Amino acid sequence: MMDKCLDCNSTLKDDELVCYTCGSARRQKNPKPTMAQRGALIVKVLFVISGLFTVASLFLPATPSFTKCLATTIILMFVNRSAEQMVEKQKG
Ligand SMILES: [Zn+2]
Repeated sequence: MMDKCLDCNSTLKDDELVCYTCGSARRQKNPKPTMAQRGALIVKVLFVISGLFTVASLFLPATPSFTKCLATTIILMFVNRSAEQMVEKQKG
């Protein structure tokens, strides 16, 4: 399937990174998430899971101790926040 230049709507070949008609850089419609974005998502998922464990550890004996869960959650919260800031910076 042929892509079209988003600026001038001329057809782009698969291997063309710059539009020959208007010279603008090719922009992908679905840009892949950057490493930072992917990392931030993983941290966020871990943070949510850890939070659930923290709550569960209050009621269920089969989970790690509440203190451990709480400490992990707090660490992940800080990591999550700095990861999000990193993603924001990359967006410009
Ligand atoms: Zn173009």
